[in-house]
Amino acid sequence: MNLIFIAPPSAGKGTISFKLVENNGYQHLSTGDLLREEIKSGTDLGNDIKHLMDDGELVSDSIINELVKHKLESLHGSKFILDGFPRNVEQAAVLNDIFTSLNIDNYIVIYLGVDFDTLLDRVTGRKVCLNCKKIYNIHSDEFKPKVDNVCDDCGTELITRDDDTVETFTKRYNTYLKSTEPVLEYYKNKDKLVIIEVEKSSHEAYEKVLEILGEM
Ligand code: AMP
Repeated sequence: MNLIFIAPPSAGKGTISFKLVENNGYQHLSTGDLLREEIKSGTDLGNDIKHLMDDGELVSDSIINELVKHKLESLHGSKFILDGFPRNVEQAAVLNDIFTSLNIDNYIVIYLGVDFDTLLDRVTGRKVCLNCKKIYNIHSDEFKPKVDNVCDDCGTELITRDDDTVETFTKRYNTYLKSTEPVLEYYKNKDKLVIIEVEKSSHEAYEKVLEILGEM
C-alpha cells in the first residue's frame, strides 16, 4: 500500500517516513528534500527556491509537479511514501493524473494531526542530517543525537534548516491552513483519507500507521 502524508509543518512526516524506509521497505519521496538538494547544488533555480522556502511560501506547481512525476516514474512499482506532496488541491489533481498514467490505485492518505504548541516546540528543536536525511530533535530524549550535532548513523554534522525559525514556521503554518488543509476534503471525498491524531511521540504515530497497514 502506497502512502501519502499530509500534515502541518514539523508534524513528524519525515521521522515516520524514515522508520518506514528502514523497517518496512518503503521508498521515501520528500518534495522538501528534493528542493533542498536543488538549493545545495547552487543553481539559479536553487536560489529562487531558497527565497520562497525561507519566506514560508510554496514553490511553483510547475516545478514540483515535474519533479514528482519523474521520481514516481523512476520507482518502477516499488511501494512509496509521498511526503510534502500534494500541498494544494491543484497538485492533488495533477497527482491523480500521474497515478492514472502509472496505473497506481493502491494508496491511502494519512493526515497527522498535531496541536500548534507541539509543532512549535518541535520546529525549534529540529536538527537534520543533509547526508542521510535523518531527523533529530534536541528537545526530546527520544530523538536527541548521541553526540551533540553529529548524525548517529553517518557521522555528518547536523544542521538547523533555514526555514525552522519561529517566524518562518508561523508563515508555513498559515500557508498550510490556507493551501494544504483543503486537500484533506479532496481525499475524504475519494474515500482515501485516514486520520491519526498524534498525541505523544512520532514513534506512537508510526505504530498506528503499521496498525492501519495491517488492517488492509
Ligand atoms: P518540507 O520539507 O516538506 O517541510 O518542505 C519545505 C518547503 O519546501 C516548504 O515550506 C515549501 O516552501 C517547499 N515545498 C515542499 N513541498 C512542496 C510542494 N509540494 N509544493 C510547493 N512547495 C513545496
